[in-house]
Amino acid sequence: MNAFVDMNALLARCHTPQGRVFLVGAGPGDADLLTLRAARLLAEADVVVYDHLVGPGVLALIGADAERIYAGKERANHSMGQPDINALLVRLARQGRRVVRLKGGDPFVFGRGGEELQALAAEGVPFEVVPGITAACGVSAYAGIPLTHRDFAQSCLFVTGHLKDHSFDLDWAALARPRQTVVIYMSLTGLATICAKLVEQGLAADWPAAVVAQGTLASQRVVTATLATLAAAVEREGLSSPCLTIVGEVVRLRDELRWFDQDAAAAPAHALPNALEA
Ligand code: SAH
Repeated sequence: MNAFVDMNALLARCHTPQGRVFLVGAGPGDADLLTLRAARLLAEADVVVYDHLVGPGVLALIGADAERIYAGKERANHSMGQPDINALLVRLARQGRRVVRLKGGDPFVFGRGGEELQALAAEGVPFEVVPGITAACGVSAYAGIPLTHRDFAQSCLFVTGHLKDHSFDLDWAALARPRQTVVIYMSLTGLATICAKLVEQGLAADWPAAVVAQGTLASQRVVTATLATLAAAVEREGLSSPCLTIVGEVVRLRDELRWFDQDAAAAPAHALPNALEA
């Protein structure tokens, strides 16, 4: 062990006021889907660092005095790199502030929340995690597509369709199985390739599949089709992101179970506030 201790660094650390970072899931869009804990932390935060998928209804819950920092992350337009965000969180906490790091959906599902916490842990910054409703759960619920159902699917996989270096690193054979549901995040760009791969691996060309755009919001749109027709149908409908793809026989249940985006007259009363937000 090194006998020499950097006393200045040690003193600086001891005298630095200790803030805390709360890694908070904002849910898929509808602000009513936020946890009570998330709402409370937003009201009490000194500073909120948020991503682009966090909707206006959630941001409205941030206290008036809190500083807001947009950390972005649109697909082609990363406004702040991941190392910059990690460093920012450390810096804000070292200022002794209550920092809410707000992410769409659940922070541990395709949200890089784990990476941000690793950076905090390495710097000795205390943190807490507040789960959120991940898009797969929120969006499927509002689309009327149960992710499991005893007659159709006994398991459910969440995967990312994000093309890193234009190639998929997915276990296609495991995805192309009957009696399961596959939910594919970030799948809009690669949709045609994803559907073709699943058919190539053995799923029927007429296997049910759906894309839900802007799920849980008043602007939600759902396209149901088959693996053979989905990509063209989505293109034709001109869906805009964020979009989630759901593959499996459970998609057929939507005809019977849709409730949210039926039509304006039939929409349940509690869906109306969303219409005002969108
Ligand atoms: N941590 C988030 C996921 C971040 S990755 C979560 O747990 O939900 C971003 C992807 O999530 C989008 O590309 C899209 O596939 C999906 N997504 C998030 N919100 C969505 C919404 N309201 N409707 C449809 N898809 C959504």
